[in-house]
Amino acid sequence: MTPYMHLHILASGSKGNAAVVEGPTGSVLVDCGLSRKRLYERAREAGCDLSRVEAILVTHEHSDHTTGLPVVCRRFMGPVYATAGTASGRRNLADVPFTLIDSGDTVEVGGMVIRAFSTSHDVNDPTCFRFEVRGQAGEPDEDELLDALAWATDTGFLTDDALDALYGCRIIGIEANHDARLLATGPYPAYLKARVASERGHLSNEQAAQAIPALVTHNTEVVVAMHLSEENNRPSLAVRALAQALGAEAADTTFTEARSPDGLLSVCAASQYVPITLW
Ligand SMILES: [Zn+2]
Ligand SMILES: [Zn+2]
Repeated sequence: MTPYMHLHILASGSKGNAAVVEGPTGSVLVDCGLSRKRLYERAREAGCDLSRVEAILVTHEHSDHTTGLPVVCRRFMGPVYATAGTASGRRNLADVPFTLIDSGDTVEVGGMVIRAFSTSHDVNDPTCFRFEVRGQAGEPDEDELLDALAWATDTGFLTDDALDALYGCRIIGIEANHDARLLATGPYPAYLKARVASERGHLSNEQAAQAIPALVTHNTEVVVAMHLSEENNRPSLAVRALAQALGAEAADTTFTEARSPDGLLSVCAASQYVPITLW
């Protein structure tokens, strides 16, 4: 695949999530779990131009995905897409002018076709999104899939929709929230451990590692672990789990990056504090 899109993960984790997908003619912001000020700081660090953002997509209403949204939306003229469950899920989102979508719906923004798919989380109607660039009508490559990326986070398991959406993307983001052992022995109270590990909680390193081999194809160049817990995970554990499942080897001494023996596939982890850009 040709990299028609790239992905800036400005923040990923329980203290705030925001990502920008840059498409051929415009960008979208996915989630706004950072203050407006911090969002702009992170974008500047990442070399990401937020003035290209033509639409905002919201995965679900949890505050780590929506904290900055009301303020950002005051000066944002484009559509803000979310399901009805997300739009009505939090009182402080009442003034956000949502355009309602359902999982399975597609929207076209910035030269990208974006499809919402359902996830399994302890909220009403959560989604994530798959982004595609296809050949233009009237061109020889009309409707041919030229580039695809997707990620799934905040999901207790990967729904069939999610598996379908992640399959064969050039960039695959997969939640690797916790190491099962660290969660079990860690500081969280029992009810919270149960919530995180439940079918409507968060995906573990082990679950992500089990799923990833069937999602990666010859098109896949990057697998990025996302929404890592600071208490119950380490970047090296998430990367190691995914790398081992894919036959990739450590690319550095700290095991925060790995590469397949042929060098075509890399595995890395997104961060809560440092933006990363995937080309
Ligand atoms: Zn979250
Ligand atoms: Zn959540």
